[in-house]
Amino acid sequence: MVPRWAFVLWLAVQAKLSTKDKLANWGMQVEDKCVLCNNARDTHHHLFFQCPFSSMVWQQVLVRTLAPGIPNTLTDIVDWLVQYGTSKVFRNLVLHSTLAVAVYGIWIERNAGVFQGLSKHVDVVSLNVVNSIRDFLCSKKCVKNSTLNRAFGDKWRLPDSIFSM
Ligand SMILES: [Zn+2]
Repeated sequence: MVPRWAFVLWLAVQAKLSTKDKLANWGMQVEDKCVLCNNARDTHHHLFFQCPFSSMVWQQVLVRTLAPGIPNTLTDIVDWLVQYGTSKVFRNLVLHSTLAVAVYGIWIERNAGVFQGLSKHVDVVSLNVVNSIRDFLCSKKCVKNSTLNRAFGDKWRLPDSIFSM
């Protein structure tokens, strides 16, 4: 896993990222709206799960994981990590990297809005997330040539060369 993805994911599951609700709790006067939707407070739960912007990013990436359910709380993410996080099985690598890159991509987009006043269309953010996951998966070698792994290969448009013969 790319260290910066793992680091942000690790902070996110502990709700340790500096969302605006935290700054307000520390007594700072801040405008606490979510910059992605401008329609709710900037909290971990909102930012990663309830925000309509983030939901669209999740929808676009999770269809490619063939996962039965979508995590919609931080606890769900922790459950996913326990279930899928450590194994070298290719499916778990797909799920873990999807989780980490989506959380990272949402956080980076949120920061660009908070600190630089920049915003990208949700489709651009989703595409960046998908491309980062694909690049990561393309770097793998000797992936077992099973029907399931081939299905992931189709979903992520991975080259045949990553599969073992
Ligand atoms: Zn929002």
